[in-house]
Amino acid sequence: MGQLDGQTGLVFGVANKRSIAWGIAQALHDAGMRLAFTYQGERLKETVVELAASLDPTYLVLPCDVTSDDDIAAVYSAVGEAFGGGLNTLVHSVAFAPKESFAGLFVDTARADFAAALDISAYSLVALARAAAPLMEARGGGSVITMTYLGGERVVPKYNLMGVAKAALESAVTYIAFDLGPRNIRVNAISAGPVRTLAGRSIPGFPKMEEYVRTNAPLRRNVDIEDIGHLATFLAGPGGRNISGETIHLDGGYHVMGMGVPVE
Ligand code: NAD
Repeated sequence: MGQLDGQTGLVFGVANKRSIAWGIAQALHDAGMRLAFTYQGERLKETVVELAASLDPTYLVLPCDVTSDDDIAAVYSAVGEAFGGGLNTLVHSVAFAPKESFAGLFVDTARADFAAALDISAYSLVALARAAAPLMEARGGGSVITMTYLGGERVVPKYNLMGVAKAALESAVTYIAFDLGPRNIRVNAISAGPVRTLAGRSIPGFPKMEEYVRTNAPLRRNVDIEDIGHLATFLAGPGGRNISGETIHLDGGYHVMGMGVPVE
């Protein structure tokens, strides 16, 4: 018996087998949860269809660009039908900022880039959680899980616009938690340390970030998508029953440091 047997989950953000969303999906599936997946655009379709089928060939896989209200409505309508009108867990593992935004100064951010990053990386949680709420209510409550990074709380050089989008996302977590709490819907963010994914590697100097965290975190190691899967399973299960509005750091303790390890 898995601790999530009989539960259902909807996963946004799988691009390939390195994606954090894929680590979470595998862990939720292993704990007994039935899943549905979305993918962004035809380019990713085949990979996501194959990955989902490797867990269970009956899993639903649907297109969804989170900037499209029509896509979101179509996903929730199909998922509601497939899951008999109920949803327990929403996994939001989606973010975007134009490549150039990581290269220069944050102060040079263009209006259009700011709007796109905030729309895809932060507003999407609002839209997806709102649409999930009636399906979660039908199950007596639910768990919304999103992904964030320390660069939303403090300055991480080069993270720039994405940091500001993560700050908005983390604030949205608290307000959505307040709005949906009376319906027994919990909303939390996992603030993960650097993980070598498609999005992660697009940040200039990413290997140096990994090395810095490995050298300076209290646990002297980086996290992986399996670690994130374990924490997401905890949040989806009974252990997370009274946790909401939280940003939980999963970074080997790196976030407590005020200064790096002294050079001997
Ligand atoms: P990833 O590239 O595997 O996943 C990012 C996902 O966002 C992709 O599946 C992509 O298709 C999706 N996406 C982007 N724009 C979209 C749109 N308009 N509509 C729908 N989907 C869209 O990389 P990842 O590292 O697994 O990123 C997942 C989440 O984890 C992101 O929110 C990221 O900021 C966060 N995160 C990553 C790290 C890291 O070091 N990799 C650390 C902390 C937090």
